[in-house]
Amino acid sequence: MKKRINIVIMGAPNSGKGTVCEAICKKFNLFHLSTGQILRDNIEQNTLLGRLAKPHMLDVVPDQLVVDMVIDKIKNTEEFDGIVFDGFPRTKNQAVVLDEKIDVDSIILLDVKQEDEQKLIQRAVNRLSCQNCKATLSKDMLKDGKCPHCGSIPISRDDSTVENIKHRIEVFKKETVPAINYFGDRITKIDAFSGKEEVISQIENALKNVLVKKW
Ligand code: AMP
Repeated sequence: MKKRINIVIMGAPNSGKGTVCEAICKKFNLFHLSTGQILRDNIEQNTLLGRLAKPHMLDVVPDQLVVDMVIDKIKNTEEFDGIVFDGFPRTKNQAVVLDEKIDVDSIILLDVKQEDEQKLIQRAVNRLSCQNCKATLSKDMLKDGKCPHCGSIPISRDDSTVENIKHRIEVFKKETVPAINYFGDRITKIDAFSGKEEVISQIENALKNVLVKKW
C-alpha cells in the first residue's frame, strides 16, 4: 500500500508558500491545507470561526482555534497521497501539537536573507487573489487582466498594504521563528528568492527523497 506523506512549508509572509504549495500538491496529489485560506473562507462565509478569527488576521489567530480547525480539516483527505501544510504551524505551540498528532516527513523553510526583506514588501504590493479559484497571483501572471487558471478577474488582498506586510513580518519573527527553531536541523532551507522554478524543483527533490525512503 502507498504510504502518505506529510510536508510542512514554512516562510515569512509573501515568501511564496502559496504558489509552491499549489505546484507540488498538483504534481504529487497532495491536499493543500492553507490555514490562511481556510480562515479567509470562514470570514467570507461569516461562520463562528470566521467571526472569532477576524480580529486577529494581521497577528496570529489563537492556537486552539487553529489547531481544532486543522484537526477537523485533515479528517477527509484519504483520497490524497498526503498533506502539505501551508501556514501551519505558525507558533511554537502549534509546532509541538503537529508533532504530537502527525508523522511529519519533511519541513521546508522558504528562507529570506535579511537583504531580501524589502522584496517581500514588493511582492505583497503586487499580490492578487482570485475570488473564484482562490489562486494566489502576481500582476505579471495575469492574462488580459484575468486569472490564468479560471479567467475570473482577481482582486488585491486587503492585507496587502506596505504597513500590513511590515507588521506581519514582525509577527513572523516574534511568533513563527521560535517554531522554526523548535524544528532545528529537521528543516530543509531553500532560498525563497532563487526563482520560482528553482524553488519548486528543490522542493520536488526533497519530496522525492522522502518518497524513496518511505515506499
Ligand atoms: P496567510 O494566508 O498564511 O498569510 O495567513 C493570513 C492570516 O491568517 C495570518 O496573518 C494570520 O493572522 C492567520 N493565520 C494563518 N495561519 C495561521 C496559523 N497557523 N495560526 C494562527 N494564525 C494563522
